[in-house]
Amino acid sequence: MSTLTVAGIHLSVAALTDPGLQRPVNEDSFLADGPAFVVADGMGGYERGELASAAVVKAFSIQLHGDRFGEVAEVHAALLDADDRVADVARGTTLGSGSTATGAVLVSHEGKPFWLIFNVGDSRVYRHRGSELEQLTVDHSLGRELVDAGKMAASELATFKDRNIITRAIGARDSLADSWLIPVVNGERLLLCSDGLYGELDDESIRAILTMNGRPETVARVLVDHANARGGWDNITVVVIDIVSGGANLNGESPTGRSGSRPANDTNSV
Ligand code: MN
Repeated sequence: MSTLTVAGIHLSVAALTDPGLQRPVNEDSFLADGPAFVVADGMGGYERGELASAAVVKAFSIQLHGDRFGEVAEVHAALLDADDRVADVARGTTLGSGSTATGAVLVSHEGKPFWLIFNVGDSRVYRHRGSELEQLTVDHSLGRELVDAGKMAASELATFKDRNIITRAIGARDSLADSWLIPVVNGERLLLCSDGLYGELDDESIRAILTMNGRPETVARVLVDHANARGGWDNITVVVIDIVSGGANLNGESPTGRSGSRPANDTNSV
């Protein structure tokens, strides 16, 4: 889609949303501008999903824009505003309305560039470096939470029919975000996506596509095409962000002065 420079960080970014092959309406929305990159998936089983996800994106675009770092407080404010806006969308509906909100925001932390990664619901952020793929977010889904609580074996997850029921969402009773701070590292690639992607493609398929393809726009197209080739049962949204320069060098000093990578669990504060 484009190259983007935000507060001296040079990015190459592509974003694509597709209704898939089975749903009449695309209820996903995305934001890829300024310091904020967001995917929102209007919830199935509720009403006005496309309006709910658009309301989430609107809240972030109002708080976070321009060629500058975002602030943690602005992300917090955007999440609160998103909750209010989705409540407005839900007013007058029978089933209510809701949306996921998952994103990566460029922030300055102790004078160095970081990504504030956050999620509410089951849209994901992955980090790709070299040929390795790591899921940074933890899904707020019934299946994931039962496994994490030791109440179900991970091997049972794929066949558990309620695995995709979302336990947190913007507009729901529990809309608390989880968040992580990770350094901005040159040469890394972030992937934000809705469950319409990973519902069709397992992590190994996603990893292979991210590794084998060069430009973000090519990667985004290939991811969506592969999800549709597997059936396209849900709306599919992908945002691919390459960190070109302006961050830390992978083999040099990290922004905190430590070398190498850090676990993606530094904060939990949004
Ligand atoms: Mn979905």
